[in-house]
Parts: sequence; structure tokens; C-alpha cells
Amino acid sequence: MSKKHLFFDLDDTLIKCSGYFYDIMDTVAYKFLEYDLDYSLKEIKELFDEIQMENIAEHGYGPDNFKYSLMQAGSRLIGYDFFKDNLAEFIENETKILYNHPIELIEGAEETIKYLYEKGYNLHILTKGSQKVQKDRVNKLPIKKYFDDYYIVKHKEKSDYEDILTSCKLSSKDCFMIGNSPKGDINEAKLAGFNTVYIPSADTWALEDEKIANTKPKTYELDNILGLKNIF
Ligand SMILES: [Mg+2]
Repeated sequence: MSKKHLFFDLDDTLIKCSGYFYDIMDTVAYKFLEYDLDYSLKEIKELFDEIQMENIAEHGYGPDNFKYSLMQAGSRLIGYDFFKDNLAEFIENETKILYNHPIELIEGAEETIKYLYEKGYNLHILTKGSQKVQKDRVNKLPIKKYFDDYYIVKHKEKSDYEDILTSCKLSSKDCFMIGNSPKGDINEAKLAGFNTVYIPSADTWALEDEKIANTKPKTYELDNILGLKNIF
């Protein structure tokens, strides 16, 4: 029997992540509201999401894109006062933690990964974003020893999954992608023939959200990571 390969998303699947971004977005949006704007808090965040999405194509995911998008949104909304009050520096300071935030495992992650390792599955990490930031997070991961290797891609698209199959000489039917993003972790992986396991996170970024494709191969949906012990 061929061995199964389980590919795990990192952010908000194995470790807590998006919460940091949301907290900063709130702080910065409230700061913007101190200026006399025609925008509500909700509209500020929507504008920010739009700008961030536009910039992702060029800069990829991660703290840099987040930071520069906040600055762009601020200068667009506030104009002259953004520069006069040095709000770029304010954003620079607020976003510092994103480059080096504490690594906090998702509840049940350690128990589940250890269980899967002991059952003999090949475990891999597949994450997207900045090479430097993600590499640093992987290296600090207290459960890193259970994983064979890790891959950091700029986006998680069908071609990224196909590249991994080719470089690892694997057949998609032996591979599972496990993650919290319907778009990157599930639907794009399915297009490349991966089996998929969707574990929603309360913190999934709105722009990552879409309907799980109702196509083969099958997608398992779990309430939390411990549910993997019932599948494997
Ligand atoms: Mg994720």
C-alpha cells in the first residue's frame, strides 16, 4: 500500500495567526476615525480589504502587504494629515509584532500531529506568504520534529499543488491538503486532484472565504483538528 501524505496549512490551522492582523486592523481603523472622514468603521475596513486584495497580486500574502495596504488606505482616506501626523510611523509600529509574533498552537494540534506521526503518515507543511516570515514561524514550531519538510509558496494555486506533486514524485490520490482556507487550501488543491480536509477557523480572512467546490475528490469537513483522528 502506498503511504499517504498529509499536507498541513500553517496559519490558523496549526498556529493562531489572523487574530493578530484583525486586532491591528481595528486599532488602525479607529485611529483613522479620529479624523473627520465620510467613512464608517465598516467602510474603512472594506476599503482596506479592497486595497489589500489589489496589492496581493504584486506583493503576495504576509505582513508587508498588510502594512503597505494600511498605509495606502490611510493616505487615500486622510490625505495631507496622514503625512503631517506621521501615521505611516504609527502603522509601522503597530505592525511590528506581525514579523515576530509568539507561536501559539491551535488547541489539539500537538496531540493530533503526534498521533498521525506515530501512525506512520508522511507529514508536510504547506504555507503561503513571505519566505522569511513563514520560515521563521516553521522553525519556531514546537511540533516541527513530526514533519518531513515544509513548502512556502507565494499563492496557493492549482499550479503550486501540481509543482509539489511533480517535485515530490507523488500521485495526487495519495495526498491530502488540510487547512482553514476554502479558496487556497481546499478548492485550488482539489483542482490539482488532492483529497482535502476543511477545518474552519473563526479567524479565516474574509478574502479567503468562498464556497467549497462540490467536485471530486471529496472534501471532509471537521469542527476542529482533533477530528483528523477519526479520518486517519
Ligand atoms: Mg490558514
